[in-house]
Amino acid sequence: MTRLGVLGWPVAHSRSPAMHNAALAALGLRDWHYQRLPVPPELFAETTRALGTAGFLGANVTIPHKEAALALADEPSATARAIGAANTLTFKDGVIAAENTDAPGLIAAMTRVWGAGTREQSALVLGAGGSARAVVWALLDAGASEVSVWNRTPERARELARDLGARAVQELVRAEILVNCTSVGLQRSATEVHDPLQGLGLLHDQVGKYPHVVDLVYTDAPTPLLAAAEQAGVRTLGGLDILVAQGALSLESWTGAPVPLEVMRAAARGEQTG
Ligand code: NAP
Repeated sequence: MTRLGVLGWPVAHSRSPAMHNAALAALGLRDWHYQRLPVPPELFAETTRALGTAGFLGANVTIPHKEAALALADEPSATARAIGAANTLTFKDGVIAAENTDAPGLIAAMTRVWGAGTREQSALVLGAGGSARAVVWALLDAGASEVSVWNRTPERARELARDLGARAVQELVRAEILVNCTSVGLQRSATEVHDPLQGLGLLHDQVGKYPHVVDLVYTDAPTPLLAAAEQAGVRTLGGLDILVAQGALSLESWTGAPVPLEVMRAAARGEQTG
């Protein structure tokens, strides 16, 4: 059996196993299996180094291990090094290679839904955590005319902007594309129930000023940001599409075959497939 998995802590709610196993079945790879790998931070390096000899060809990496995954890799890609995090590991002949497919995944999803032209437009990124780093790097690498970064904790936005060559802003500025890379919308806190966008410094009726709105957060119902964007009639891209795009790139690198995106998307949504 060829094994694949997702390393995280916690990882119980990950949609990656359903998404990848559906794709493996559709590709006819019956002796391949993708599983959850719940690993606490203190055991990450030791466990991950042992995966190759335990029959694993590769693993996705999620919160909180993406930086540790880069640090432990023998062969990190230039993209993963530039971002400072890896979400895809490949184990081959005792060597661990690390890639970041979050960045190209975002651009692939944007291009698929909105066309290649959006890659060159200006963007405002909300957040300065791990996913914001990948998104800012991806947009700049794809040719965005300007990338501004706003964060609840402004020092982190300044640091990210300095590292990657973006512009830190204290207030939300106009841009063609708005990308939420904060966890606002993931869980409705008592304050968020009353005013879901408050944590982003965004008023509900300001959302429509951004012609394209991306929310990395994915939940079963549309997030408050995407709901406001849809109500305002602007173009939206949800976190599930980005999850599918990054997963597809990881799976393609392991199998060497083009993967069925629609099958992955349906499985990630929890729909029954064929
Ligand atoms: P992270 O590194 O923990 O960063 C969290 C960010 O959210 C920080 O900028 C933090 O600001 C901000 N934040 C948290 N609570 C906030 C609040 N109440 N108000 C305003 N800002 C708040 O997390 P991450 O890895 O970047 O992930 C962020 C989100 O993206 C998560 O929901 C994750 O599930 C999602 N994500 C989705 C995909 C996908 O494929 N769709 C991929 C990666 C991540 P401070 O710096 O001020 O704390």
